[in-house]
Amino acid sequence: MILNVDDHEPGRYARTRLLKQAGYEVAEASTGNEALELITSLGPSLVLLDVNLPDMSGLEVCRRIKSDADLSSILVLQVSASAITSQDRVGALDNGADAYLIEPVDSGVLLATVRALLRVREAEAELAKANGALQEANELLIRRNEDLQRFAYAASHDLQEPLRTISNFAGLLERRYVGRLDAEADQILGFIQQGAARMSTLIQGLLLYEQAGQEHGENWTPVDLNQVLTWTLKDLEKSITESNAIVTFDPLPMIRGNAALLSQLFQNLIHNGLKYHKPDEPARIHISSQNKTQDMVEIAVSDNGIGIPVKFQKIIFSPFQRLHGAESPGFGIGLATCQRIIERHGGRIWLESPNRYAGTTFYFSLPNQP
Ligand code: ADP
Repeated sequence: MILNVDDHEPGRYARTRLLKQAGYEVAEASTGNEALELITSLGPSLVLLDVNLPDMSGLEVCRRIKSDADLSSILVLQVSASAITSQDRVGALDNGADAYLIEPVDSGVLLATVRALLRVREAEAELAKANGALQEANELLIRRNEDLQRFAYAASHDLQEPLRTISNFAGLLERRYVGRLDAEADQILGFIQQGAARMSTLIQGLLLYEQAGQEHGENWTPVDLNQVLTWTLKDLEKSITESNAIVTFDPLPMIRGNAALLSQLFQNLIHNGLKYHKPDEPARIHISSQNKTQDMVEIAVSDNGIGIPVKFQKIIFSPFQRLHGAESPGFGIGLATCQRIIERHGGRIWLESPNRYAGTTFYFSLPNQP
């Protein structure tokens, strides 16, 4: 509905007729007070407001509409005599009028302005609705995610204790009875021990994955990646030597982040390079620094291994996605943890593996420390 406010009856009549012919429902008021009453009782979408009213100025009516939280969304199209000063026009717009027309107003221009204002309002309402829905969905997602994280943490944490008990008692049985019972019993005790060790590795992995998703902002410090990599390679020394692998690295930049998480990241990527080598060739892994912008640096970890088919290159970053069976140990949470660590740092991780057996290069970006 449109409220047409004008004390000049012939002019008001002509505009009401024009708007009704264009299909709008129209109510009329001839004074400022009458207009304010009808605005409250009818809630029009738009007020066509003459500036010169007998009891108060149209500018004041507009100010009252726009300063009332319940009414401020009503559109105001102010119309005034050509004699008005440009200062008054500025005053009207400053008071919150959504548009301003000066007499004599062409009927085509008036209708087009009304249509345009209503269109914009409709689009704004749609946008607000969509934004509201998006925010709701986002809040739900955050809550679900937090629930899930709490659940994963509690489950992994609480499972450790009974698992330690199983492992300890199986160890005790093994020490006391292996060699004294039959061969099958010895084998069963071995299976229990292996199962417990595997489950313990899985729980450790889940806890690391969980930890990588937690807020670490307070620990962000300048980190020398050369030092982090040196520590990591020390931890992996045994696996590297045993598999005759060669791991090399170029000088790496300083970044801002969490050294412990980044060591975990290098460990996962290098460990995968060692695991997924070609059957007839020991692993060669090289870590280098790629592009560098003012904000981010890019690091590459490349290997000469079996490669990753293009169709699997995205899914392997999801938890528990593996392309290998029991022949190579693992649970499929290494790359998911890497992704979490990088996202925590505000970067991204991706890979290139052009052909089967042409090796894989993992790239990731981290915040630069100038
Ligand atoms: P996991 O190694 O425990 O299976 P990851 O999340 O680290 O779990 O890796 C997921 C899968 O991605 C692996 O099962 C493997 O198939 C594949 N993959 C990861 N890194 C490499 C690599 N460097 N070369 C070839 N395949 C890889």
